[in-house]
Amino acid sequence: MTFSAEAKMQFLFALRSRGVTDSRVLTAMEKIDRAQFVRGIFADRAYEDMPLPIGAGQTISQPSVVGLMTQALQVSGRDKVLEVGTGSGYQAAILSQLARRVYTIDRYRKLVSDAKAIFDALDLANVISFVGDGSFGVPEQAPFDRILLTAAAEDPPPPLLAQLRVGGIMVLPVGQSDAVQSLIRVVRTESGFEYEELRKVRFVPLVEGLGD
Ligand code: SAH
Repeated sequence: MTFSAEAKMQFLFALRSRGVTDSRVLTAMEKIDRAQFVRGIFADRAYEDMPLPIGAGQTISQPSVVGLMTQALQVSGRDKVLEVGTGSGYQAAILSQLARRVYTIDRYRKLVSDAKAIFDALDLANVISFVGDGSFGVPEQAPFDRILLTAAAEDPPPPLLAQLRVGGIMVLPVGQSDAVQSLIRVVRTESGFEYEELRKVRFVPLVEGLGD
């Protein structure tokens, strides 16, 4: 599926009008083609600002929400980032443009292998993907400068708080899966954690254990 320059212009315009204003984030979202990450009957909607089904009952997030979360994470080129919830791989690909290295983990083997094939095809050599329960993080690679969850937990998982470096930032949706959730930003300080609510969002739930 190829899209016109006009469709891509409109996509960037929609992102800006919804508050994605960070030029590094917009450049990454211009460069990474969302159409690579959406397959099947929804492929022709890749440049619309909406979440879309990706298989295993999961969704690729709404692009403006991807942009706002990425912006809130304040990633620099020196950062080691952990993403929990690889899904299609789109968010990890955006992060790969901004970070030194991105570790991404999902509980579905099939989603991780499909995403990995796209990372390879796009030559995104700084993305490393894992199959596993991301609520335990990736202790072998900790600590992380930035952690992003793209599935909603009731509270920030303690192992992830423990794997955040002092001075590090974590962005995640919190709340019940069937309700409107809050996107929050957690900053780890020398003495503890500071919490800030950013906006209301809706994500699929963070689920324990491995998928099929
Ligand atoms: N970031 C993705 C969208 C993610 S949808 C993208 O850009 O396309 C949320 C993902 O979180 C789903 O793929 C789901 O399988 C995954 N997930 C849910 N609970 C998880 C857990 N405990 N560990 C790892 N992944 C989890």
